[in-house]
Amino acid sequence: MIAAYAPMRATVRRKRLKAAQAVTERQAVDDVARLLDVRYKALCRELRRGNMRKRLSKLDSSSDLSKALNIDWAAWIKDFIKHLRAALIPIILAVQKVEAEYWATHGGKYDAGDPNDVIDGYEARTGQPLSAIGDTTQTGVLNTIRNWYSDPGQPFKSLLTKIGVFFSAARAADIVATESTNIASEVAGDAGPKMGATHWLWDLAPEDGPFPCQACVDKSEGGPYAFDDPTAKRPPIHPKDRCGMIYVNSAGVEV
Ligand SMILES: [Zn+2]
Repeated sequence: MIAAYAPMRATVRRKRLKAAQAVTERQAVDDVARLLDVRYKALCRELRRGNMRKRLSKLDSSSDLSKALNIDWAAWIKDFIKHLRAALIPIILAVQKVEAEYWATHGGKYDAGDPNDVIDGYEARTGQPLSAIGDTTQTGVLNTIRNWYSDPGQPFKSLLTKIGVFFSAARAADIVATESTNIASEVAGDAGPKMGATHWLWDLAPEDGPFPCQACVDKSEGGPYAFDDPTAKRPPIHPKDRCGMIYVNSAGVEV
């Protein structure tokens, strides 16, 4: 079969993926920031009921702090994950579209399938379900409350400020950036083997990381990694990791 266009180069694919992610991530960050802000306001209302220090002083050490403060974390995490998944779907569709365009110029037809399968796929592959974000939030907030209580000199206002970090717009952006990389890796891991790429190379994006990440540099100097090697960890390997995957054959030559 003759491709309708010249085969898209890996560098062009990278640029198109980044552009598609950037556009769709903006809306997702807004959505997630709103979810977090609603939760933060509800939490502040709950914490403002009565005198917090007095309320906490009535708990014995074995008491469940969440229950005592009337915070149903399980219900919130369930609801948060439901909405987070919905917010990530447009990113998935945009990434799948770029991959279909890439493979179309290589003479193939990539059938991406259900976008929900992408999230299920990387949750299973990484062993890190989206609900872990909720768990981290719960643990962080409860520890913050405990630390505040153990320091009588800290004003109530500083407790609210410290808790706010877990519900900030910056945190929403971090969450979306990390999940967007998970999405890109999962779609590449689906498309590659389907379309005949057996291996992949770590595409380093040091400019996007929180620091010049040696772990990512090491990954980029290794490979090619086999798609069917479950021990070959794909990006992201740290929060906000923006590294990518390049389709190659077993000799490391682009396909
Ligand atoms: Zn990286």
